Amino acid sequence: MSARVDHAVSSGTFSLDGETHQVENNLWVVGDDTECVVIDAPHSVEDILALVGERTVKAIVCTHAHDDHVRVAPALRERVGAPIMLHPDDRPLWELTHGDAEDPGATLWDLDLADGQEISVGGTVLRVLHTPGHAPGAVCLYAPDLGCVFTGDTLFAGGPGATGRSFSDRPTIEASIRSRLLALPDETVVHTGHGEDTTIGAERAGLEA
Ligand SMILES: [Zn+2]
Repeated sequence: MSARVDHAVSSGTFSLDGETHQVENNLWVVGDDTECVVIDAPHSVEDILALVGERTVKAIVCTHAHDDHVRVAPALRERVGAPIMLHPDDRPLWELTHGDAEDPGATLWDLDLADGQEISVGGTVLRVLHTPGHAPGAVCLYAPDLGCVFTGDTLFAGGPGATGRSFSDRPTIEASIRSRLLALPDETVVHTGHGEDTTIGAERAGLEA
């Protein structure tokens, strides 16, 4: 049974720095017929469970901790009994949504993501690339066997993710993309956090300029 990627779009809000925006997030589930990994948990547990079906969820992997990527992660964990994985550098963003040490209702993620870590699922592997810039703990997940990379909000069709808000940094995201994503083969399909797919090759010209 070979691994595949399942996709849907989920609608909700993104809030930071006192502003709230309506957003649509991509949902990505990677696995075979038996088990899967959920990439990001935006707005609706039910939307995610519809993609998961009867499969066992091995992990809920967060590309970063903006609220439109982690809001229902704890609720999904309750339903499927899988650990939430996040890069620890995104703790300040996580705490904005799920509380800090001062807050009795706070909840944390379960396992830290680290650069170079490999997450095995359904006979394939997701390799963690730490790509700070959009958020300090932003990661991309490269699936070499599937020829794709899940970039969260680090790279979109048309260029880098936003860096205008708190905890973001433009030179840092540019360095991350240049050193980590442009190192991938041109034909690598880029599955983004919002909007259409692209490829590394299609984005390379604009990014190297
Ligand atoms: Zn974001």
